[in-house]
Amino acid sequence: MADVLIVEDEESLLHTLRYNLSRAGHDVRLCTDGRVALDMLLGNPPDLVVLDLMLPGMDGLEICRRVRAEVTNPTVSHVPIVMLTARDEEIDKVLGLEVGADDYLTKPFSMHELLARVKAQLRRADMGGLAGEPPAQLTADDLVIDVATRRAYREGVELRLKRREFDLLAYFLRYPAQVLSRERLLRNVWGYESAGDTRTVDVHVRWLRAKVEAEPTNPRRIQTVRGLGYLFVR
Ligand code: CA
Repeated sequence: MADVLIVEDEESLLHTLRYNLSRAGHDVRLCTDGRVALDMLLGNPPDLVVLDLMLPGMDGLEICRRVRAEVTNPTVSHVPIVMLTARDEEIDKVLGLEVGADDYLTKPFSMHELLARVKAQLRRADMGGLAGEPPAQLTADDLVIDVATRRAYREGVELRLKRREFDLLAYFLRYPAQVLSRERLLRNVWGYESAGDTRTVDVHVRWLRAKVEAEPTNPRRIQTVRGLGYLFVR
C-alpha cells in the first residue's frame, strides 16, 4: 500500500486510474493541473507519481525537472515518477532529462501494464536501487565504479551518468562475459516483474556506450548479441 499521486487532466482516464490504483490497495490523491501538482509534490510528497506529460498550468517534463532539482529534500527529488505520454517519439525526452522520469507508458495502455509498472517502481524504491548486496567497488579495465557513492570513473575521470545508466553499468560489471537478455536487464535493473518495453534497455545502452566506449558506434565493451541481448566485455 502506497500513497500515489495521479496527475492527469483527462477526466475519464483520471477516474479509471483512480479506480484501479485504489483497488490495488493504494491511497490515491488526484490532481488535474500542473502547477497544483507541483505544489502537492513539494509540500507533501507521495510514494509515487503517475504524471501525464501534457497538462494545463505546467507540463509533466517541467514538473519532473523541478522535482528532481529539489536536491536538498531527497524525499521530493527521489520520488518515483511514471510518465504518461501520447507519443512514442517522446521516450528519449522523458527518460533523458538530467534526472528524468523512472518509467513511462505510451497512451493507450492497459491498466494491467500500469499496475505492473507502479509495483515495479515501488519495489525498486524500497530496495534503494540495485538488487542484492553488490560489492563496494567494481572495476573493468579503466572503468571503476563506487557503488556506495554511486560514482563512476573512466581513466580516472568521473563519468556523468544518469541514475539508470549507473544501475545498468553496475549490473554489467557484476555480470561480465555473459549474455544478458533485455528481459533480465529489465527485471534486475528496472525492477520489472513481467515483460516490459525492451526499447527502454536499448535506449539506455546507447547512452551508456556514448560514455564508456572509445568508439560508441563500434562498441567493444557493451556488445550486442543479435537476438539474445547484451554482453559486457571487461
Ligand atoms: Ca493531458
